[in-house]
Amino acid sequence: MNNKYLELKKKISEYGTIIIHRHSRPDGDAIGSQIGLKEAIKATYPYKKVYVVGDTTEKFMFLGEMDNISDDVYNQALAIVVDSGDEYLISDDRYKLARCIIKIDHHIAKSKWDCASLEIVESDEVSCASMIADIIFKLSFKLTDLGAKALFTGIVTDSGRFRYEGTNDKVFEIVAKLVKYNFNLDDVYSKIYVEDLEVVKLRASLTSKFVLSEGGVAYLMNTQEDIKNYKTDVFTISRGMVGIMSGIRGINVWANFTEDENGKVIAELRCTSKYNVNSIAVKWGGGGHKQASGATIANFDAAKAMIKDLEALLKENNDGN
Ligand code: AMP
Repeated sequence: MNNKYLELKKKISEYGTIIIHRHSRPDGDAIGSQIGLKEAIKATYPYKKVYVVGDTTEKFMFLGEMDNISDDVYNQALAIVVDSGDEYLISDDRYKLARCIIKIDHHIAKSKWDCASLEIVESDEVSCASMIADIIFKLSFKLTDLGAKALFTGIVTDSGRFRYEGTNDKVFEIVAKLVKYNFNLDDVYSKIYVEDLEVVKLRASLTSKFVLSEGGVAYLMNTQEDIKNYKTDVFTISRGMVGIMSGIRGINVWANFTEDENGKVIAELRCTSKYNVNSIAVKWGGGGHKQASGATIANFDAAKAMIKDLEALLKENNDGN
């Protein structure tokens, strides 16, 4: 048994109040990890107070609502931050008020967090939810049907429906345990993969709009005006649409640049398995995984410079495929 898992259990058993945070503009893995862990702690230690906090993404709220808590709840609390590679990504920075902070994550770590007394980071894991499920099963924690459903949602979304690197026998073993709980798979799939007609139309528009640079990088640039015209939001058009450039023969590196509400540009970078976009994301102040990384950059001029970096990456690795 991993010593860090035992240390986590010890900390959880020591605290009466536990507050679970994750990154802002949450995806299925962020919400799934957060609610899955809350359900496991509540089921194992029914007398503890366990809260989940942060901003919301409509699509994933079928897993449960966030809690509204006052600052004083943090005084004697343990904060567990899941699925957040960098501190600036964490939604609700009151985690800093907690007596003790623990990080559980699966992104490539750039440096240690000074604030955290324990960090469990497994960057080879396909999702944070599979990591948390593994920890829960290894520690013999109890789990509820909702917890299993949340963790399953995290795994299926972050693994791209069991396709991305890191989806291995261990992940399928964990999923086999989760699906034994009482939740309906179709209920999950219909919530995450049945889309509004507007979103399908948005995907069609962007598919006909993306550009292939001279150096072979596919990209999109979405302004705030585009977001208004398409009647969509930053999450849907940035993280939600980067995938439209995937699975196209000959496109190995692609990027989706979206102006956010503050005039900054969110860069979503992706590549096929032969490449690694993470170092470019890190160079621009972001991070993530080898094949899926992101950064928030100053403007669209910076995006153009980033495209040059991505073209150089393609060139360096180009062996004619
Ligand atoms: P995941 O949260 O596992 O889906 O990680 C991939 C996603 O997180 C991508 O959309 C990245 O753009 C984003 N991401 C991960 N780490 C960072 C970071 N340090 N800064 C900005 N975006 C990030």
